[in-house]
Amino acid sequence: MTSGEIHAWNILDRQPVIAKWDDGTFTEIVPTNEKPAQDKWIGPPLVDLQINGFAGIDFQKEKLSVEQLMHATSALENSGCSKFFLTLITSEWDMMTERLAKAKELRDNHPKLKQAIAGWHIEGPFLSPETGYCGAHPPNLMLEPTVARLTKIREITGKDSVLLTMAPEIEGGLSAFSTARELGFQVSIGHTNAPENIIRRVTAGGSTGFTHLGNGCPAELRRDDNILWRALENPSLTYSLIPDRWHVSPALFRIIHQLINNNSIYYTTDAMAAAGSGPGKYKFGHLDLEVGKEEIVRLPGTANLAGSALTPINCIRYASEMLGCDWQEIWKNYSTIPAEFMNLITGFKIGAPAEFVEVETKSNNNINNINLHRY
Ligand SMILES: [Zn+2]
Repeated sequence: MTSGEIHAWNILDRQPVIAKWDDGTFTEIVPTNEKPAQDKWIGPPLVDLQINGFAGIDFQKEKLSVEQLMHATSALENSGCSKFFLTLITSEWDMMTERLAKAKELRDNHPKLKQAIAGWHIEGPFLSPETGYCGAHPPNLMLEPTVARLTKIREITGKDSVLLTMAPEIEGGLSAFSTARELGFQVSIGHTNAPENIIRRVTAGGSTGFTHLGNGCPAELRRDDNILWRALENPSLTYSLIPDRWHVSPALFRIIHQLINNNSIYYTTDAMAAAGSGPGKYKFGHLDLEVGKEEIVRLPGTANLAGSALTPINCIRYASEMLGCDWQEIWKNYSTIPAEFMNLITGFKIGAPAEFVEVETKSNNNINNINLHRY
């Protein structure tokens, strides 16, 4: 039987709703005056546009298997995230493109992975090699984003959705943003120290993201002029934030929400292998990393952060905690907003695949349990 219905609270508008589906697609989502019996909430699953690995599985490795990808995918689902962009970070170019081709092949041949891996996020090697701005990416492996290299990514990914993070100020950077758009990539500025006029030129070309604002830059910046001020001043960007309370401090997180239209903010875990699998030693691309009890991922012996060990549902918990708001209020920032930014056909709406999360709350509205349903 593939049809069914559920009566619950709608996370997005906080009203009682009856959702019906048939043959894997939502056919009705109607508000009702009848209150659901329990504190049961339903809404769109979480969408994460930057997952480098999860539950002990590092996506930056050569011999990734279907079983490993499935393990990471299931662990993400258990945390409420049903769609993600498998993210590859800077590596030797040939190695990186081979990894991408391999991951694409595994995913295309497996129906469940095809549902879950909604696209690819290529973060590097077209980034700033400047200390601090390159973050944990090896600066000596940065390359010019030539037409040939961008075309290669398109050839491998076919018609898939691709998010491409680049620094526009590097050699060939500005023209690469137009080439990338012509090739159908969604572009995002990141790991950059671009001057204001260059950011303006990029955003004039169309929809542009800013990857993990507040990170991908040195820990210490000039107070009068820095990449944060330049990015925040441009109202046409769509910003991603890592709400783990460390990558962006709670005060800065609140300030960004006060300054920016909330429909232009989406959350990401930027998760690496350690996420969802506890403290320990992990490999992330070229790096050996250690994760402590507080779920912070650092380059050994430094204060530099390298990805996060955050799980999707904790993203929601910490973001609402930092903003002092109910979790329902910011659910869209980690579901419909990133989905719309990438033009994904998903969400809690008629015609979309019948996929939704069911969240049970305690009497104080704290998230108690989360389940993902797919029909
Ligand atoms: Zn990054």
